[in-house]
Amino acid sequence: MTDLDLIADADRRARAYLAGVAGQRVFPDAAALAGLGAFDEPMPDAGRAAGQTLALLDDAGSPGAVASNGPHYFGFVIGATLPVAAAAERLVSAWDQCAASFDTSPVADAIEKTAARWLLELLDLPRQSAVSFNTSASAGSLSCLTAARRSLLARHGWDVDAQGLSGAPQVRVVVPQSVHVTIRKALRMMGFGTRHLIEAPVDDQGRIDPARLPGLDHLTILCLQAGEVNTGSLDRFAEIIPLARAAGAWVHVDGAFGLWARVSSIKRHLTEGIEGADSWTTDGHKWLNTPYDGAMAICRDRDALAAAMNSDAVYASASADSQKNLGIEFSRRARGIPIWAALRSLGRDGVEDMVNRHCAFANRLARGLADAGYTVLNDVDLNQVLFRLDTDAATSAAHASALETGRLWFGQTRWQGRPALRFSISSWMTSAQDIEAALAILSDCARP
Ligand SMILES: *Cc1c(COP(=O)(O)O)cnc(C)c1O
Repeated sequence: MTDLDLIADADRRARAYLAGVAGQRVFPDAAALAGLGAFDEPMPDAGRAAGQTLALLDDAGSPGAVASNGPHYFGFVIGATLPVAAAAERLVSAWDQCAASFDTSPVADAIEKTAARWLLELLDLPRQSAVSFNTSASAGSLSCLTAARRSLLARHGWDVDAQGLSGAPQVRVVVPQSVHVTIRKALRMMGFGTRHLIEAPVDDQGRIDPARLPGLDHLTILCLQAGEVNTGSLDRFAEIIPLARAAGAWVHVDGAFGLWARVSSIKRHLTEGIEGADSWTTDGHKWLNTPYDGAMAICRDRDALAAAMNSDAVYASASADSQKNLGIEFSRRARGIPIWAALRSLGRDGVEDMVNRHCAFANRLARGLADAGYTVLNDVDLNQVLFRLDTDAATSAAHASALETGRLWFGQTRWQGRPALRFSISSWMTSAQDIEAALAILSDCARP
């Protein structure tokens, strides 16, 4: 097989997978899982044929894939990939650019700069902000929180880059009680002991209660959420952010999926005041339906992010707004390009339509679930529906029987101390009929 035949074979196999993904069992069955044993080989001494390696990947691997790239996946907050984004990714992978800076990839540098500008316009965030295209909201929050601490300390005359943390003025961190685990992780990695985080009490939707907001000062980082992971609720930015700003605190918003509400004229009011924060993270790979791992970290003070994340060396210096100087990775994939392709092909209207459609589907699902005997636990402001039956046993049984059908997948969580089910509608492929089909399954499962 020639090199190009191998690529053609991969393309053919990828097409066949995509053609079948909507009809496929959503979570692999026992036979497909057993088939994954084929990969448990000893590391070969002599190389195997490339074509045969690809065949194994497809024959044993494809049946073991979760059909999250289809219309029936409602777990976590996982979108499918828009065809244009997947196609752009395919071309970018043929280019194989190291998209660190202009010098390593002028094309990536040019396109990611355009994508960055578009994102700030679309999300209506301060236009001078720096945008880092990184692997995840996890990595983005780590970058932004690092910039935050560096800036707060610098304002107090402490050069953390040179002096490190020992002996530094103490930076306090306030997070919602319902804060996402990846923010906790970022803070833990930074050396903020989890025991020292100050937790802001939240309401029954997981939103910070502004009346009980802990004290803030000029050495405080305040983390807020646009899209609590269970309910989809957004913090009351318009009430909270002005208080934080007046106190001189740094406000970081985890908007992994919920920041996209800002694009919708119907939902935008939920994000009112969010533009007053200092930094924001959001994912492409969730609600924008672009490939993994593609996310954005946005920082109002360009210089703060650029200084915190700079990785210039004598052999590799680049402008401050090069991607390698805004994010964690030095060598990196041009992950902003599929995001650019998605934005260009959807346009502002297309992004808004997708967000509105998913929110409307979530409302329809919630109404249907209530009719079927479930209790819906959240306000269903966005694309998340949180629900349960009267007893914990009935909730778990309904979940298990729904998944057993193989015709959909969604997850379980705990909410206010008891098991609950969570449904996230995030895939461009999901249609109104798919929602009715899911509802029919869930209605059946509500009856023991
Ligand atoms: C998914 C999620 C994250 C983490 O995003 P990754 O891109 O998976 O790192 C953070 N916060 C919220 C609210 C999320 O839903």
